[in-house]
Amino acid sequence: MRKILVNIARMVLAITFILSGFVKAVDPLGTQYKISDYLEAMNMGSLLPDWAALGASVLLSAAEFCLGVFLLFAIQRRLTSRLILLMMAVMTPLTLWLALTNPISDCGCFGDAVVLTNWQTFLKNVVLLVCAVAVARWPKKMFRFVSESNQWIVINYTVLFILGIAMWSLYYLPTFDFRPYHIGTDLRGQWQRTMEGEDLPYADLFIERTDDGEDITEQVLADTSYVFLLVSPYLEQADDSRLDLINELYEYAHEHSYQFYCLTASTEKDINRWREMTGAEYPFCLTDGIVLKTVIRSNPGLVLLKDGTVIRKWSHNDLPEIGEENATKPLEELDEGKMPTTRVPQKILTLFLWFVLPLTLLVLADRTWMWSRWLRRKNRIYNNPKIKKEKEKMRKKIVAGNWKMNMNLQDGIALAKELNETLKADKPNCGVVICTPFIHLASIAQFLDQDIIGLGAENCADKEKGAFTGEVSAEMVKSTGAQYVILGHSERREYYKETPEILKEKVLLAQKNDLKVIFCIGESLEEREAGKQNEVVKAELEGSVFNLSEEDFRKIVIAYEPIWAIGTGKTATAEQAEEIHAYIRSIIAEKYGQAVADDTTILYGGSCKASNAPELFAKPDIDGGLIGGASLKAADFKGIIDAWKK
Ligand code: PEP
Repeated sequence: MRKILVNIARMVLAITFILSGFVKAVDPLGTQYKISDYLEAMNMGSLLPDWAALGASVLLSAAEFCLGVFLLFAIQRRLTSRLILLMMAVMTPLTLWLALTNPISDCGCFGDAVVLTNWQTFLKNVVLLVCAVAVARWPKKMFRFVSESNQWIVINYTVLFILGIAMWSLYYLPTFDFRPYHIGTDLRGQWQRTMEGEDLPYADLFIERTDDGEDITEQVLADTSYVFLLVSPYLEQADDSRLDLINELYEYAHEHSYQFYCLTASTEKDINRWREMTGAEYPFCLTDGIVLKTVIRSNPGLVLLKDGTVIRKWSHNDLPEIGEENATKPLEELDEGKMPTTRVPQKILTLFLWFVLPLTLLVLADRTWMWSRWLRRKNRIYNNPKIKKEKEKMRKKIVAGNWKMNMNLQDGIALAKELNETLKADKPNCGVVICTPFIHLASIAQFLDQDIIGLGAENCADKEKGAFTGEVSAEMVKSTGAQYVILGHSERREYYKETPEILKEKVLLAQKNDLKVIFCIGESLEEREAGKQNEVVKAELEGSVFNLSEEDFRKIVIAYEPIWAIGTGKTATAEQAEEIHAYIRSIIAEKYGQAVADDTTILYGGSCKASNAPELFAKPDIDGGLIGGASLKAADFKGIIDAWKK
């Protein structure tokens, strides 16, 4: 249930972050204006110059998009989910403040694509914050689409893609235009409806000739021919690198009797300076600065109207060049006079082909590769007895006893002595370990020949030392002379509620004190019946030991113990056990590489006896056993140890 909820929360966050980062990245100037609005609302407007606000706009939107994609693919799960939580922890109170004080009417979280009120934004953020807490609390519950070794492809591709889109949109114009002046807008119709009292975003649209102060909005919009509008919210900040081209365009418009106006919110002084600097002969009109910034994201930018409808827009980097050969032709005959054919569905398709499709193919290739690698490995080992032998030889074989809460001190000592004598007389073909209750350890360590039998505890505390009544620390275990400790046994997970996080601490402390960890994993009966055994063991490894460095992971012994087989007399069949052992080895290979996987000892535990041990141990991926009940009698235990002699 928890896993499902965490993954739902992850999807909600991922989709929201991707959408919101994307719509901002396709309009870097719009996001820059929003950042400046925020700073002004906080009386910090002068803090960030325009270029820095633009840089912040590109970086913030790219970061939002990348975090969304990384969360979707469960890349660097812990770091990504913490960064998202941090963002939400900052944004939620900020948007509460916006909702309460209303210094700006739209927070701009989805650019101009979806406009939310400040209260709607706050509520949205509360939902996202809850999702972010869930995901950051249980990051390992998110399933992966791409194996760790291939994640770098997604990371690099995503970063390049979003920065590329932002740069493209900055150089040309926003790839997607969500504003009320996008290509195709019937400005005449919209403006008339606004004048008749409809609540539309054109109320501030006016065009006032500077020469005589006349309002020519209606005249411009009513023109049934072409009208060029050179838009520069502030001429003093306008890019002046394409002045000749602008003048040529004006001459062309003049020749063909098309209206041509420069719309600006600049002062008369700045207009005169521009005239002097550029030799501009076109008329200037005053228009609201915010409207001009909304009309086109370029300073200056060129807008072409026909019959009151926006049919083309060009950034100053991409102004049309009519050329001498076309100078006599009217706009109807030129491409520049026609509405572009690339419409929104086509753009979405292009985007799909450039981003979604490559990543989908990567996921499919990665999954197929992982699967085939696993199959190949399995087949190679099954079909080639030489490789099978070699691999088997490389790994340490172990039979470990887990005494659990059985036998008083005297009985325990007697059993250990008997075993010690027996194995000294008849040397085992494998490593042997006995894990006993804490109180036995120090006494048994006195006489046990630890070259033949290793000694271990069944548990240790998740704290280093201090006021933890009844606990026994890893350091204390080590000080008895023990070398091993069992951690993560299903009985401790179930009865003492040991979580993956607690076990992770225990593993770290055990290793810090030079104890070798026998780490238990395994699924319950319901999980096996639901076919979830692979998922369960993977999550258990990821939750407690996959954080270790390769060097430290090499010191771990894994014990696969299906819970339904422990102490029940039901053993997994040798085939069932081999299948999951091979899977466990494959995910270790995925995480640490094949060499580490080949060297990792994986024990089987669960009603293992002298009668079934030979068949189990004959399997290529089973490297011995963790034995409960059958380790309480020397003869029974010796029978299992001897399975390695067969
Ligand atoms: C165990 O508890 O680790 C175990 C494998 O028990 P048993 O052998 O009794 O099933």
